[in-house]
This record gives sequence, C-alpha cells and structure tokens, in this order.
Amino acid sequence: MPTRALALDLAAHPVKTDAMTTGTLTIDLNAIAANWSALNRMTASETGAVVKANAYGLGIERVAPVLAQAGARQFFVAVAEEGVALRRVLGSGPEINVFSGHMPGDADMIRSADLTPMINTVDQMIGHVEALPGHRFGLQLNTGMNRLGMDPAEWAALRDIALNQNPTMIISHLACADDPDHPMNAAQLEIFREMTAGINVPRSLSATGGTLLGPDYHFDLTRPGVGLYGGMPFVDAQPVVSLDLPVIQTRDVSAGSAVGYACGWVAPRPSQIATVSGGYADGLIRAMGNGATLTHKGRKVPVVGRVSMDLITVDVTHLEQVPEHLQLIGMHQSVDTVAEFAGTIGYEVLTALGSRYDRVYIT
Ligand SMILES: *Cc1c(COP(=O)(O)O)cnc(C)c1O
Repeated sequence: MPTRALALDLAAHPVKTDAMTTGTLTIDLNAIAANWSALNRMTASETGAVVKANAYGLGIERVAPVLAQAGARQFFVAVAEEGVALRRVLGSGPEINVFSGHMPGDADMIRSADLTPMINTVDQMIGHVEALPGHRFGLQLNTGMNRLGMDPAEWAALRDIALNQNPTMIISHLACADDPDHPMNAAQLEIFREMTAGINVPRSLSATGGTLLGPDYHFDLTRPGVGLYGGMPFVDAQPVVSLDLPVIQTRDVSAGSAVGYACGWVAPRPSQIATVSGGYADGLIRAMGNGATLTHKGRKVPVVGRVSMDLITVDVTHLEQVPEHLQLIGMHQSVDTVAEFAGTIGYEVLTALGSRYDRVYIT
C-alpha cells in the first residue's frame, strides 16, 4: 500500500494505461486456410488436418472451424480429451481420429463425442470391441519409428480379426520425413506397403514432411500439422504467427555494467537497454541466449542477458528511437528462426506460446 502522500502524488500523475502490457500474438486464420489448400493441391488424395495440442498452441476453437471451412473432413488429435473438445467446436460431421487409440477409461469419451481411435496394440483392439462393439476405429502400424502402432508380428496375428471389424483407415508415421534424403523414408514406405498389401482399407502414411516427399507417400489421406501453421519443413507456407512484445522501460548503462540474472551480459560500451514484456513463462524459451534477436522494422535488436520469467532485455543502442513494441516472430523472423535461437524446432516454439498474450485472430 502506498502511503497517503504517495497515493496523492500518483493520482496527480496518473500512470499511462492506454497500452497493453502483455505481448500481442497475432494468428492469421486466412494463412492457415491457404496453407491447408496449398498442401491439398499437392496431392491427388484427401487432406486431413492435425490439430493436437490446441492446434499447435494456436487455439483449436478458432483454428479447427477454419480448416473445416477450407475442406478438411478428417481431423486428428493426440488424446481422447482433445477429441471431446474438438467435437464441441466442430459439431457432428467431420471425423475426429485419436492417435493414442483407445486407452482404459476412454470409452465414454469415444462414444459420446463419436471419436475414432487409432488402435495401437492387440490389448487396445480387445478393449475397444469389448467396450464399444461396432464403434468405428482405425489401425496404426509401426513401420520403424518405434513409437506408436503394431509391430509386424503383432499385426500378422491380429490382421484378419481386425479387418473383419471394418477399420476406417490404416495409418503409420514417418520418423525422418523432414529430411528428404534420409534412407529411413524409403525403408518405412516399403514396410508400410508390405504390411498393407492386398488390403482394401484407406491408407495414410504422411504428415507435412511426407506430403512433400511426393506421390509415393500420399496414399489415400495425408495428415499435415505443422505446415498448416507455417512451420518447416513446408518452406512455401504462408506465415501464420506474429508476436509483438511491448517495451516497458528503457535505460542507459555505462560500459562494464551487467544486465539481468547472473550478470549474464556486460555492456562492452555505453548502451541503451530496453526491458520487454515476455519471458519463459510465455514460452520464450530460456535456452534462447546470445545471438537471439527481436526486430524493429526489419532491423535486428539483440537480446542481452538471461531470459527471465516475464521479461527479456535487449540492446537498442543503435535505434534512433525506441518503439513501443519489438517483434519476436513475424515477417522478419519465422517461428523456425526463433526455434534455432533456442536450439529447438518450430513445433516446440508454437506449442509453448503462453496463455498471457493478447491473442488477435485475423479472419
Ligand atoms: C503430429 C503428427 C502428425 C502431424 O505432423 P506434422 O509434422 O506436424 O505435420 C501426423 N501424424 C502423427 C501420427 C502425428 O503424431
């Protein structure tokens, strides 16, 4: 509590309140629709949409209807809970497929939200037909990634029984599709062909990376995720996200002064430092260190010192005027560029985007 005298003083000099102090995350829904259509045009097969993890952090309530409007009819989520939320958004009609399959305790959600689990094991198959006889399901096969899906031996044992129950589709997932030259791609393609030979059920092997590998990888349905949201490896994607962070304070520091926790940066010359709203609690990954930049009208503004929970500090010495906002993600720096600052991938930058931002959707 300020003292009475200070309170009066503050009242006489009101704090400016016309600007927001949280960053502004702008999400271009038209670009997401355009990216879906561009990926769809690359194939002769159907194009689904992967919207797990809250549509890669961008907001499933706003993103999923736009993808449905663009033409997506097959949606994919990671877990049944996400499927329930997605069904509320989409209503009946589009198919909602669950990568983790049918886990114990999922039956009510799968039934009530009309979800299609991608069955991964013999146990899941048994559990599914016992709990929800006649309910739709797909099958996931392991072709070498060794993450989800049935191994060839397990599949050989289950195959005839499973096919008798009319699965909606058979899927597998590529481990190295972001690297077109990786021999794993052709190896998994071959195994997928062998495991599904002679089966008359729609097949799906490729996410964004596999879609870009060409028609051999397309089968009946592709399942792009990150490419919809403007991320690599879809180099021709329209950018979807921009992130502008307000400058809270600026100060001049003398040569030799330290900035931030652990005195992580020491000014080599007299410098002007701006403190910007946004930190690791907002998904600005702390590992992002020296070499990371924000931008102002295309000019780079170096991050100096440690990223803290709510704030980062930047060197604005070279700017004639300190703007109200600096940009982390946008026209001049992609999600993947920012990922490189932190030694990670665009997927992680997107899904880490925090809940404190003022989210603005371009429609
Ligand atoms: C996440 C995921 C996708 C989408 O992958 P992107 O690389 O984001 O296009 C597709 N299929 C499966 C099984 C996944 O887990």
